[in-house]
Amino acid sequence: MYVVSTVTFRVGDFGSYETYTKKILGVLFFNMTVCSSCFSAIVSYNNGDFQKVSDVICDAVLDIRYYSSNNFTGKKIRGYNAPVPYLTKKALNALVVAANDLRQQGYRLLIWDAYRPQKAVDHFVEWINDPKDPGDKSFYPNIEKSNLISGGYIAPKSGHSRGSTIDLTIVKKDGSSVDMGGTFDLFDKRSNRNYERLTEAQKNNRKILENAMIKVGFIGADSEWWHYTYKDEDYKNTYFDFDIGYDLK
Ligand SMILES: [Zn+2]
Repeated sequence: MYVVSTVTFRVGDFGSYETYTKKILGVLFFNMTVCSSCFSAIVSYNNGDFQKVSDVICDAVLDIRYYSSNNFTGKKIRGYNAPVPYLTKKALNALVVAANDLRQQGYRLLIWDAYRPQKAVDHFVEWINDPKDPGDKSFYPNIEKSNLISGGYIAPKSGHSRGSTIDLTIVKKDGSSVDMGGTFDLFDKRSNRNYERLTEAQKNNRKILENAMIKVGFIGADSEWWHYTYKDEDYKNTYFDFDIGYDLK
């Protein structure tokens, strides 16, 4: 008797070994097909529908944090082989319009992250589950590391892996910073989009970014003022896992 998944076979049912192998593979393929149509799928290849944001929005400032150690883990993150942001072409087309709008108001985009491979999200979760590694506490000054998942700051699946989510802010034309009342990946209530205890200037700066993004079809996360997802995203249930930093098709 041979057991594959929940299906049980006897070699005698299929005759030769070759026939047996084909039929087993056929069953496995069938199972995979059923799974991916019923549940979210993890896809390990780029399907040619992604584009580098910086190829289209040429004045964007890039500070791809997970390519560096300047993030909450204190280490470069798996799957980031180059400091470049990718988005699906559909989301990027909308972002171009927002960037034009902001440019006319005297601002450029500063991008911290965009497409994020599933393996990078797995790296975050591994870090969470290692109590001996504090990472960089300055990113979570008022919460225990063990509460970062229950607090909603880190999840085993991220919308970023679907390719239509971006973390960004605005800077002035000369590249100087704009005060948003906090920075990227500050896991704190201060990062809530509508946090009350900000100055009027900080609230207004967050609104300038938000207005430009909402106008073109992005929606912002309540808990992270820098996080936007394109509402009409192409891949609502597909979590890509190809590395950042190889040539796109
Ligand atoms: Zn984000």
